[in-house]
Amino acid sequence: MSSLLAIAAVCVTLTPAPAFAAQTPKKAPVDCEQVKCIALTFDDGPGKYAGTLLDTLKKYDAKATFFLEGQYVKSRPAYVKRMVAEGHEVGNHSYSHPDFTKSEAATIKSEIQKTQDEVKKAAGVEPKLLRPPYGMADLQVSDIAAEFGMPMVLWTAGSEDWKTKDVKAIQKQTLAVAQQNGIILMHDWVKQTVDGMPSLIKTLKNKGYHLVTVSEVIKKENLEPGDIYPVPAGWEK
Ligand SMILES: [Zn+2]
Repeated sequence: MSSLLAIAAVCVTLTPAPAFAAQTPKKAPVDCEQVKCIALTFDDGPGKYAGTLLDTLKKYDAKATFFLEGQYVKSRPAYVKRMVAEGHEVGNHSYSHPDFTKSEAATIKSEIQKTQDEVKKAAGVEPKLLRPPYGMADLQVSDIAAEFGMPMVLWTAGSEDWKTKDVKAIQKQTLAVAQQNGIILMHDWVKQTVDGMPSLIKTLKNKGYHLVTVSEVIKKENLEPGDIYPVPAGWEK
């Protein structure tokens, strides 16, 4: 692990400055090895309140990641199109949210493929990351994720929004678990999460966080298809 990190650090050091750096870019890219990044991730959507959430993210120039359920991509494709158009990341969270560790291989494959197809239809892109339902994976799930060319991304901490459904409690919990390169689990079907988002984003920004997509935060991990991050306790491959 430490030697891999060392190699990554060397690569970063040796990368020459791009020739176009002299021009004034519209916006400097965020380097999460240099600045404090955090990735807010919203599961099970697009949820009912995705439109309001997208308005807030746009207003505060924050990026997020949506791990989408194919069945809702199908019923709310306009939100997915907007997510992609506005620079957010979309990931695959199955079609109908079964526990993959209790599913047949054929079911898992079809759940993933159908969601890839719906997202492609809605927004013209295919998700590159998988978040298995409930964050539950095993070696079979890992092998199938690898077949699809996707690493699996879980979370470093949860907002517990689905449990508390309370604006203040969600903000308090999120700020308590916020950390550099943290990946926070939230839900855009929880109204209180979306209601409290303007104030939460302002507070995170005041604490120095850059709100970025999950791919920005995991870039340094160089995940391969089938890999899982963060690695759950007891995970062996
Ligand atoms: Zn879920």
